[in-house]
Formats: sequence, structure tokens, C-alpha cells
Amino acid sequence: MTRFAFDAIGFIRSPYKQKFAIPRQPGLIAEACGELVLSPPYADDAIVRGMDSFSHLWLVFVFHETAEKGWSPLVRPPRLGGNAKKGVFATRATFRPNPIGLSVVKLEGVVRKNGQLILQISGLDLLDGTPILDIKPYLPYADAIPTADAGFADTAPHTAMTVSFSAQAAEFCQQQTAYPQLQLLIEKVLKQDPRPSYKKQRDGQQQYGMSLYQFNIKWSVDGEHNHVTEISPMP
Ligand code: SAM
Repeated sequence: MTRFAFDAIGFIRSPYKQKFAIPRQPGLIAEACGELVLSPPYADDAIVRGMDSFSHLWLVFVFHETAEKGWSPLVRPPRLGGNAKKGVFATRATFRPNPIGLSVVKLEGVVRKNGQLILQISGLDLLDGTPILDIKPYLPYADAIPTADAGFADTAPHTAMTVSFSAQAAEFCQQQTAYPQLQLLIEKVLKQDPRPSYKKQRDGQQQYGMSLYQFNIKWSVDGEHNHVTEISPMP
């Protein structure tokens, strides 16, 4: 048996509405909070019994947005500036023979809302709508290996980027009482420098835009500094 068919057991609700600006791994932005909504017949209280005693979960998911684009044996990891090629199985690239991803997230709570069974999670690196194939508790004794070698991705990515907000952008964030961490989330996303490598190599001031939750965020980059110029609700 070499072909398998799996059903999604649930879907992700995430602040990240597009691939651009999603961090490259989970846990890098604690303020990225989302929900895993379990689908019937898995939206059953019995299926999550005991889960609340675990602080973190592994999520096995489908890179559904890019799955149709296929894969290649060699990829260019952004960590290497997009210049060096590595074997796809030596990377966490999205374009894989089986477009399956693996992320560890923090479990903030298990709740029922409007009849739905929802896992509240944070630190996610997942696109809104990502289909989930499986959930497993994170086991530090087996899953954490502090002495492990991690090749070209040995430490969390670091940039020296700074972030400032225009008066309009700061005020807009303060008014979003339903999203008290919006400004911090934007700041942390921009500190990761989400621009593709080839854009980073260009000189001069540039304008960018991204969507988080239902907001459009515009910013400019000048050297190592991001300035959030305007935030508006999505039309
Ligand atoms: N932690 C996972 C892993 O190692 O399998 C994902 C790593 S992958 C490098 C992270 C990137 O996947 C994000 O920056 C985002 O651009 C992309 N991504 C997240 N959810 C996706 C989805 N549903 N479909 C396609 N790409 C997605």
C-alpha cells in the first residue's frame, strides 16, 4: 500500500490571511493566537479528554495553499539568503513530495463556542484555513533534544530590524479592543523581516503591505527600519 487518503480532522483560524509575513517556524511570535476548530465527527468532547494537561501540541497539517505547485529535490532555504540549494528533506520547505507540515504550538485552552469544539492555540506559523490531519501532545522527554545539531538553522532567525508606528497606525491598534495584542503582533512580524531575500538585497526605501486578522497593514522599509504608515479595515 503506497497511496493513502486522509480526511482533515479540523481547520485553523489564524491571523495570517496570506503566506507573506507568516513566521518560518512556530513559537517565534507568541502573540500569534489562533484556533483549531475540530470537524465532525471529531468535534466530540471524548476525543480531547486529558488534552488540557498538556501545554503544547504537535499539529500535522497540509500545506494546502501550495500543494498543487508540486515539489523539487533541491530548494533554496531563506535562512541561507535564497542563494544556496539544499535537499528538500534537509529543509522544512513547503514544496515537498507530500505537502505535509509539522508545527508545535502552545495550547491555551479547550473550549466550546457556538456548538464548535475549539482548541485555542498560540505561537502558530499557519495560514488561515490550514487543514489539520492529526494532533499529538508534545512530550519534552522524547521531543526536546537540547544537544541536537541543526545545521544551517541552528538558532532562531535574528534580524536587527526596528519598528515604529505612525500616529494613525498606533491609534488604530489601540482602538481594536477585541485584539489587544495587535500592535505587538505587527511589531514582532515586522521584526522577523518577512520580505523575500531578493527584496532585502535591494537598496532604497520600499513600501509593503500585509493582512492580519481583518486588517490591511502598510509599512515602509528604510535600511533596518520598518515604519508602519497606515492600518485600515479590509474592505
Ligand atoms: N513548522 C512547519 C514545518 O516545519 O513543517 C512549517 C514550516 S514552513 C517553512 C512555514 C511556512 O509555511 C510559513 O512561513 C508559511 O509561509 C507557510 N505556510 C503556512 N501554512 C501554510 C499552508 N496552509 N499552505 C502553504 N503554506 C503554508
